This record gives sequence, C-alpha cells and structure tokens, in this order.
Amino acid sequence: MNLPAFILDESGSPVYGTPMVKAVFPGSFDPPTFGHLNIIERAQSIFERVLVVVAINRDKKYLFSGEERVAFMKELVAPWPNVEIHTCNTLIVSFARQHNCRVLIRGVRSVQDFSYEFELSILNKGVGPEIETFLMPTDQKYFVLRSSAIKELASFGGDVSDMVPPVVANALKRFKIDT
Ligand code: ADP
Repeated sequence: MNLPAFILDESGSPVYGTPMVKAVFPGSFDPPTFGHLNIIERAQSIFERVLVVVAINRDKKYLFSGEERVAFMKELVAPWPNVEIHTCNTLIVSFARQHNCRVLIRGVRSVQDFSYEFELSILNKGVGPEIETFLMPTDQKYFVLRSSAIKELASFGGDVSDMVPPVVANALKRFKIDT
C-alpha cells in the first residue's frame, strides 16, 4: 500500500506522513567531511532510511582503509537512527536493488560536479532504470569542502578543524609531512 508523504488539513496546510522510500548515499568518504554529513542529515529528514555506502574499490588508492572509513562513518551518523553504514564493492545500482532502495543520492558543489554527476546518473539509469538519482546541492557553507584538498592541507599541517569532525581531524595528523 502506498501511503501519502503528506496530506492537506482543512486549512490547506500540509500534515506530513512517514516517508516510505529508502535511499542510498554512496561515496569514498576518504575522509568524511562536514559536507558529506550535511547531505546525510538533510537526506535522513526526507527518506525513511538512508543507507550510506562506503566504496571499497581494490583498484583505487585511499588514504584511509575501508575499515577506518566505515568506523568514522558509524561514529558520525550515530545521532540519526534511520541512517545505516554499508560497504560495497559492486555496482551501486546492484546494491540499491538488493536493498530495495529506489533513490540514489549524490551531492553537488559546483558545475563541474554537476556535469560529472549528471553523466554518472545517465550511466546508472541505463543499468537500473527503476533507480532514480537525486542530486542535492551542497549547503553554501560547505561548497569548498573537498576530501582531496583537505588531505593535502592536513599533510602540510593546515588547520582542518572547521572542515572535518574532530575524530577525522585527529586521524589526519598521522599523515602530516615533517617540514
Ligand atoms: P566519490 O569518490 O564517490 O565522489 P566522495 O566521498 O568524494 O566520493 O563524495 C561522495 C558524494 O558526496 C558525492 O556525491 C560528492 O559530490 C558529495 N560531496 C562531497 N563533498 C561534498 C560537499 N562539501 N557538499 C556536498 N556534497 C559533497
């Protein structure tokens, strides 16, 4: 049975029901930033469940191991009971299908992100036509946050405390280059 996401009361104001759609939010999260967490927080307020999927790709070089990225994410999403952490080493569309998720969420910070994400969404649509990609624009506070730049800044001892949660900022200290 399909329940409505909202109904209008006598005065025309919406009364929101329980959203019934599950979504996946895949990424490398190497490392997680406040930008990722902002997307997760907003998504979990819209979807019944959000499955955050940490990519484990053997051919890709990560700074943090899969186990460490999963541990970060588990700790960071603890405030939201409808968010789960998973890993995936297959096509994300196959994962979404297996877990009965209709929506694939991706964040966009810029026009460059948009063109990349748009092409990815077309590819994913070809593989799984029933899975819809939702692109969520970043909050303006986080539009400059990029995991790759944060790693570089941290390696030179830069202050990343307003870009990543303390647990990540601490872990990044391991990679500081002695100058
Ligand atoms: P991937 O390697 O899959 O791009 P990332 O961890 O870099 O993994 O990003 C995962 C998702 O989060 C992507 O959709 C990316 O665009 C989005 N994202 C990353 N940083 C931000 C940010 N600051 N604001 C909004 N979305 C972001």
